[in-house]
Order: sequence, then C-alpha cells, then structure tokens
Amino acid sequence: MKLIFLGPPGAGKGTLAAKAVEMMKVPHISTGNIFRAAIAAQSPLGIKVKEILDSGRLVDDETTIGLVKERLAEEDTQQGYILDGFPRTIAQAEALAGFSVVDRVVNFDIPDTSVVERLGGRRTCRACGTNFHILFGKPKKEGICDHCGGELYTRDDDREEAIKKRLEVYREQTAPLIDYYRKKGILEDVDAKPAVETVVDNFKKCLEV
Ligand code: AMP
Repeated sequence: MKLIFLGPPGAGKGTLAAKAVEMMKVPHISTGNIFRAAIAAQSPLGIKVKEILDSGRLVDDETTIGLVKERLAEEDTQQGYILDGFPRTIAQAEALAGFSVVDRVVNFDIPDTSVVERLGGRRTCRACGTNFHILFGKPKKEGICDHCGGELYTRDDDREEAIKKRLEVYREQTAPLIDYYRKKGILEDVDAKPAVETVVDNFKKCLEV
C-alpha cells in the first residue's frame, strides 16, 4: 500500500511510521530524515538546507520534489511505501500525482498545545533518528538510544521559537492538503492525541492492516 502520513510536526508521524513499516513491510521515506542525514554528512544538499531546517521553514519545492521523485523510482518502493513529511505543499502534492499513485492519506489530528508539549520534550538519536521523550517514552538510560546506543540530542528545530514557526508554516502551507486529499476521497483521520499504543490501534482500524 502507498501511504502518505499527514499532520503537524509532533503528531507522532515518525513514531507511528516506524511501527507501521514493521507491520506492512514497506519502506519509510521521511524527507526530514533525508535532510538531517545530508546535514550530518555535510553534503552540498546538507549545507544548502541546514539553516532552513534550523529555522523551521520549508525547503524549496523543487529540491524536495526532486529528492522524492528519485527515491520513489527505486525498486523497493514499487509495492508500497510510507511517505512521512511529504507532500507539505499543494505544489508538492500535484508533482507527486505525476509520478506515483497514492492509495491512502492518513491525517494525524492533534491540537497545537499537545504539539508544543511533545516537541519540547523530544530527544532524537543522532545515529539512527529514533525519537524518545523526557516524559513519555523515556530511554532506558538517560541520553542514550535504546536501539543503537547513539547519543540523544534536542533537534534545533525542536526549540521553542522554531516550534512556533513550524506550526505556523504547517497551518499556512500544509493543512490545505487535508481538504485537497479529502476531496479526492482517500483521506482517513486518526486522532493522534492519545498514547502511541492507542494511536497504533486507531491506525490499524482505519486501514484494516
Ligand atoms: P520533519 O522531520 O518532517 O519535521 O522535517 C524537518 C524539516 O525538514 C522541516 O521543518 C523542513 O524544514 C524540512 N522538510 C521536511 N520535509 C519537507 C517537505 N516536504 N518540504 C519542504 N521542507 C521539508
């Protein structure tokens, strides 16, 4: 199944995608992870996008669409994928429709207050990208990733000013995609406010996976 995960930053898209890929055996494609990996590698793409990510703004459509188009041309995506964090603008959605047919769009619904609480306490593994939280989902050992032993850190864009900016950008540029996909009849809403186990159950029910 070819899926898009839509929702504001902090809705738990990445966490749920990690669980969903195990159940569905499809690749998880996160444009945010691709950009962060490029920044860590100090590649030309990473150097170009670092400041944009730190500020909470969006990378330009042309760059982002090019990356996803290339990734979706690979063999492992032909039976299905989970696109997490893409598309984020109507222009990206229209471009995507030109090179892939998406089956469903899952809209993770969550109020802004919960987003601020979640992102402010989020700690991310520098090595493998897994997310933890200082209150919900603590690692076994403080500051260390349970999965790979990597160092946990606070992403620059999880700081207060950047969180506000990301929410503003989401409302202005990404939220219109909810109506865009609802009109196409492929949108499923999932309440993302409960604990992750409940969100996983709600997700399974809506997709029957
Ligand atoms: P995420 O991990 O999905 O929250 O993405 C982190 C950051 O990467 C975003 O705040 C943007 O700066 C950038 N980014 C990720 N996906 C996209 C996209 N589809 N379009 C533009 N910028 C993106």
